[in-house]
Formats: sequence, C-alpha cells, structure tokens
Amino acid sequence: MRVVICGGGVIGACTARFLALRGCEVVVVERHRVAGAASGKSGGFLALDWCDGSPLRPLARRSFALHAELAAAFPDRWGYRRLPTAAVTLTRKAGRAAPGLPGWLAPEARFGGWLGTPETTAQVDPEAFTTSMMDLARERGARLVQGVVQGIGRSADGGRATGVVVDGEVLAADAVVIAMGPWSVLAAAWLALPAVHGLEGHSLVFDDPGAAAAALFVDCPAPGGGQGAPEVIPRPDGTTYVCGLPSRRPLPEDPAAVVADERFLEQLRQMIRGFAPGLAAAPVRHGGACFRPVTEDGLPLIGPVAGLEGAFVATGHSVWGMLNGPATGEALAALIMDGASATVDLAPFDPARLPALAVQAT
Ligand SMILES: Cc1cc2nc3c(=O)[nH]c(=O)nc-3n(C[C@H](O)[C@H](O)[C@H](O)COP(=O)(O)OP(=O)(O)OC[C@H]3O[C@@H](n4cnc5c(N)ncnc54)[C@H](O)[C@@H]3O)c2cc1C
Repeated sequence: MRVVICGGGVIGACTARFLALRGCEVVVVERHRVAGAASGKSGGFLALDWCDGSPLRPLARRSFALHAELAAAFPDRWGYRRLPTAAVTLTRKAGRAAPGLPGWLAPEARFGGWLGTPETTAQVDPEAFTTSMMDLARERGARLVQGVVQGIGRSADGGRATGVVVDGEVLAADAVVIAMGPWSVLAAAWLALPAVHGLEGHSLVFDDPGAAAAALFVDCPAPGGGQGAPEVIPRPDGTTYVCGLPSRRPLPEDPAAVVADERFLEQLRQMIRGFAPGLAAAPVRHGGACFRPVTEDGLPLIGPVAGLEGAFVATGHSVWGMLNGPATGEALAALIMDGASATVDLAPFDPARLPALAVQAT
C-alpha cells in the first residue's frame, strides 16, 4: 500500500514513521522544510495529565507514554527529559523563592505551586524530534519529496482518492493524508474539510547556561494591557525558550514566508523583563514566529475525509501538537492499514463532526 502524506510537520513525520514501521510505502511531500513551521519552533513541552477532563485525555496519555518509549529506544537524539513545572505570578510584593527555580526571576515573581513533577511533565527539542521521526521513517524506506501539494487525484467516478497533485504532476497513492498544519485549510478547496485556522505566536530563545531545569507557566501583565501567560522552557543545550504572546497576523500561503516581526519580539522581551530581568538581558540566540492549527471546537481532526475514500486528515492539534504527534501517527497508521485504531478511540476527532467549508471546486 502506498500512502502520500502532505506536510512534514510533527504530525506528518510521526504518521510517516508509524506507517513505515508497518511496511507501508510512504511518501511525504513538504513544501518548505521538515519541521520548518510550528513543529520546529514550538516549546516542545509535554504533559501527561493536562488534557484530562477533555476528549483529548486518552490521546495525550498514550502520546506521553509513546514519547518516553521513543526516547528510551533512541536516547540522546532530541533532548527528551523529564522536568518539574511551576506556576509563577508577578505580584507587587516580593514573594518566596522556591528551590529549583532559576535565579533570574524578579523578587516579585511569586512561586504559585508545582503544576507538574518529573513523572508528569517532560520536554523535547521540537525540531530535533520532528526531523528524527522523519529520519526514522526514511530508514524504513519512506521518501521525502520537496514540492507544493496543489490538489487531489480522483478515480473516474470521483469517489476515491488516487493521489495528489504536486507541482502540476500527479503522485499516485492508495491513500492520502492531509497533515499541512494550518495550511490544511487550502485542501478544503479539494475536499470536504472543516475550517482550520492559524494562530500565530512569537518566541525567543536565550543563551542561558545557568537556568534551572524547571518549566515555568507565568501569569504577568502583558504589554499594552491585560494579562500575559508566557511559557518558559529551559533546554538541556543551555538555552531557554519563551513564548506566549499571540500576534494575530494572517497566515501567509507560503510557509517559508512566516518570519518573525521585531515589534512582537520586543513586546515579548518587555514582558519577560517584568518577571525575569536577568533572562531578558541574556543574549538572544534566535527569535521566531509560527502558526498553530486550530479548529472550531478546539479538538484536532483525525480521520477519514467524508465523501472521498482513501483520503484522511490529521491537523488542528493547537497547543498540543508536539505532545500528541506520536499517538496521532500511531492511531492514523492503524486506521489506514487496519480500518480502526486499537490504541486510541478516534471518534471524538472524526472530521465529520464539524461542517465542511463550502469552498470545494469539485
Ligand atoms: C508558539 C507555539 C508554541 C507551542 N508550544 C507547544 C508545546 O510546548 N507543546 C506542544 O505539544 N505543542 C506546542 N505547540 C503546538 C505545536 O507546535 C503544533 O500543534 C504542531 O507543531 C502542529 O504540527 P503540524 O504537523 O500539524 O503542522 P506544521 O508544523 O505547521 O507542519 C505543516 C507542514 O505542512 C507544510 N505545508 C504547508 N503547505 C503545504 C503544501 N501546499 N504542500 C506541501 N507541504 C505543505 C508546511 O511547510 C509544514 O512543514 C506550540 C505552537 C506554537 C505556535
């Protein structure tokens, strides 16, 4: 069986890896670069139980376990480690210091309790994780094609997907997976797909060799009013990643055209200065921008596309795509190969639960 996966983000790469493991012939078509969008620029933060109380619970718990299994099978390849996670609130008065928190926190940055322990929270380097999933798939025979997916090939009666159109040429397939993150919305012109939006966020990565190994979820004033919720993730390579200020620019059609805006990076740095002046003064290794894919009800779309046999979609993972990539790939591979997933019930993520966008050309 030959499966063409459109998109080389964490969802496409994990799906490729699990399909290739099962002996499937896999081709991944990527327009820009594997991990070149949100999957390479996210926080890479993972949590066992933060999706409890939502339909994501089984997917997240299975994926947290798969991350641990993958890291044990391939040690030291993508910076996986367990770490504690703390809540921090910026107040008017000096708060109590907590053991294990970084020395650069402002005295007014008050410790608000532990949100996670090394048993329940972890991290990966998101770019290294995504490219490694693609590399592992390629070691099992998967192929990476650089190109722009522009449409779907259909059988003569129009009821079956027969491939994808890449740069004007048809690439034949028995099954097609749309995993183009927020750009999956472009496929709504060819398929009965619900809306997917791109929500932008900026991030800064500081050189910070002295940072303590605890992730921080901070509550502090945002520049321009309101509250901000920056996430601070120290990495084993001596850098610290910070994101958490939505920037609300429109999604460009070409993923390569997503570039950080210095004004948003400066606003983010200003917010960091309030709760961590020492970190804000550290050298910046790089600043980035990326769009996370979001659906109307906040849950991902994982499953068959209505009205076209052999067409599948996997997108809309919002803030949990790095966490939920492995279990999504595993479940989707089973759905395509066996007709059902034995690990996670995909019913809550059935794309047919939401109305399709009315923009299909055929
Ligand atoms: C600032 C920020 C921080 C985040 N932090 C975390 C976190 O700590 N933990 C977590 O679990 N999640 C986090 N996320 C969410 C996570 O990054 C996303 O859910 C995830 O990366 C989405 O992966 P994807 O594969 O669906 O999409 P993407 O990574 O966007 O990949 C889609 C791919 O499709 C390609 N593509 C687009 N159009 C075409 C085309 N026409 N033809 C071929 N290819 C195409 C793109 O080039 C891209 O490589 C964060 C997101 C943001 C924005």
